[in-house]
Amino acid sequence: MAFEGLSERLQNAISSVGTGGQITEADLKQMMREIRLALLEADVNFQVVKTFVRRVNERALGSDVLESLTPAQQVLKIVDEELTELMGGEREEVILATSGPTVMMMAGLQGAGKTTTVGKLANYLTEETKIRKPLLVAADVYRPAAIDQLQTIARQLDVDVFSKGTEANPVDIASEALAYAKDNGHDLVLIDTAGRLHVDETLMNELRNIKAAVQPQEILLTVDAMTGQDAVNVAQAFNEALDITGVIITKLDGDTRGGAALSIREITQKPIKFTGQGEKLDALEPFYPERMSSRILGMGDMMTLIERAQKDYDEAQAEEMAAKIKDATYSFDDFLEQLDQVNKMGSIKDIIKMIPGLNKIPGIDDLNIDEKDMGHLKAIIYSMTKEERANPDIISQSRRRRIARGSGQDLQAVNQLIKQFNQSRDMMSQLSKGKTSGMKKTMRQ
Ligand code: GDP
Repeated sequence: MAFEGLSERLQNAISSVGTGGQITEADLKQMMREIRLALLEADVNFQVVKTFVRRVNERALGSDVLESLTPAQQVLKIVDEELTELMGGEREEVILATSGPTVMMMAGLQGAGKTTTVGKLANYLTEETKIRKPLLVAADVYRPAAIDQLQTIARQLDVDVFSKGTEANPVDIASEALAYAKDNGHDLVLIDTAGRLHVDETLMNELRNIKAAVQPQEILLTVDAMTGQDAVNVAQAFNEALDITGVIITKLDGDTRGGAALSIREITQKPIKFTGQGEKLDALEPFYPERMSSRILGMGDMMTLIERAQKDYDEAQAEEMAAKIKDATYSFDDFLEQLDQVNKMGSIKDIIKMIPGLNKIPGIDDLNIDEKDMGHLKAIIYSMTKEERANPDIISQSRRRRIARGSGQDLQAVNQLIKQFNQSRDMMSQLSKGKTSGMKKTMRQ
């Protein structure tokens, strides 16, 4: 989980001053030291840490934190605002052309995630913006596998690829692709470019020439979050050579300390536009500085959670579900459907992290939510007949034994699932009808 160490240390530093009673200047100093160490440990650039701590300290001293009866909350607010500012303040949207195809070129070191991100962007932009017909351009001619990879991605998304094999010149490929896009009604040209293991001048020259030839609206640099401070150096070098328009931080789903995400904006003065949160093509998230700050400070990220839920759940479905709950006709099939909805939103652990308050419960980090358990539940439900799933009341003892055998689970697990299902079905039904007295009875059972 990204930012895990940073989150914990920052939250500890802030809450260490206590939530009740005034604090002294010495307490504040100690807290600033802790915040500084937390950021350095998270691999945030040294210069950025210095400026950040100075800003927070000045604001804390300048405000009424020392006189306040709730100093921790006051500092939390300041740190939250400054973290948000550090990551760019407002969200910056991608720039789309006002007429003709929008051109976006990728840049970045080999392995940073350029090719994957081209696919993710095509997917995201067609879903979320006016873009309808992207063209993916294979201009990484040095890594033959890159072209195959792009073609595979394009097939998955059902979009077109422009490729001239590995012999052509990348600048010509890009120019010809743009002409092709204009002739064929493509409204987005996404150029996958070559990377190297290290920043080098030949690569930069090639990228500069592509830029000059196609005049892109966006030059998006992909950097790998796992590379920490290196990502920041890389971003600086690419920005100096190309004057990039934005950054996409990939692999933020990994166990990164998060330093890159916190330093890049301040060092390059270029916005982070997206983050990569997995290998799949829908694992791209628009970057909102204030949401990221909330998440780091354990204040939850309800907005992202709500948006994800909305994306995966349509209103008609929700209403239908609510009616079933009310009439207690909610079945195991509905339950399965909801399990799948939750799964689509990400791992349960990630979801918990986004809910304010929940992530503060002691021990929640050690909570071992075994996603395999969900698989066991599903196996039991799949071993029921259609009739049993729709009408769980008919599941007799002999049926339960059959289900246990069929699912490879023991009878006890089957009994427990059915019991819990019945209880929650009754409780949800009573709740939705507003019969709280009945609910209490159910809960005492
Ligand atoms: P390129 O050389 O810059 O084109 O990099 P690729 O697109 O080939 O990506 C390199 C590896 O990183 C591949 O295995 C990708 O699946 C993986 N990858 C890319 N983005 C992400 C991400 O956001 N999260 C994770 N976990 N893996 C990613």
